[in-house]
Amino acid sequence: MNVPKRRRASRAGTQVEPVMRALARAIDGLELPAIEKISERQEEDPFQVLIATLLSARTQDATTLAASTRLFKVARTPRTLAKLTVKQIERLIYPVSFYRHKARHVKATCRILHERFGGRVPAAMEDLLTLPGVGRKTANLVLTLAFKSLKNICVDTHVHRISNRLGWVATRTPAQTEQSLYQATDEQWWPYLNSYLVTWGQNVCRPVYPRCAECVIRELCPQIGVTQVSKTEPRKVVA
Ligand code: SF4
Repeated sequence: MNVPKRRRASRAGTQVEPVMRALARAIDGLELPAIEKISERQEEDPFQVLIATLLSARTQDATTLAASTRLFKVARTPRTLAKLTVKQIERLIYPVSFYRHKARHVKATCRILHERFGGRVPAAMEDLLTLPGVGRKTANLVLTLAFKSLKNICVDTHVHRISNRLGWVATRTPAQTEQSLYQATDEQWWPYLNSYLVTWGQNVCRPVYPRCAECVIRELCPQIGVTQVSKTEPRKVVA
């Protein structure tokens, strides 16, 4: 189905609140992203949130959840996990994508946490960024979920895509989107942006053929950059 071009939203800020309120109602009952489940299950233990986030890159949520659970059954602290060999970690986290690469990062991260940070995950962005494999996306998620920061936005591919489709930002990279979102949105929404947009991106506003006909925010969305939408019959998303 072709989508007629619509005008870009003139003021992103005016649209953020109704979109976020509609999404808050709509995602109730939908599957949570894997890291949120791990965060809830592990009582927001920063170490387990950090390691699970490292494992989650380009990996299905169910695979991340299963691999993290296997790994934490064997070793739950930086000290015990650093004692495992890379091969042992590989076997435990397989089949997450790039498992060999991630196993090396996990071991090195645990060693650094043990040697430099007293076995604790640091709560400062600049310290988190010194850990192998940790970029701003991972650091922001750890700060938001595990340290309950209200000042960070974790921008992954879903947040980047949907923020652009909604016209909240006009950016080319997730890093640019993160910085633009701090300007375009009220900070009351920052702790929720990742959770709401990732859930919506996995279920409705998919990368290709988004399900615009059944989207609860379609009246608010200028569908920027969307050229084709799902032709399947709308299914009920809202409980
Ligand atoms: S599914 Fe369509 S209408 Fe809904 S947010 Fe995505 S692009 Fe906009």
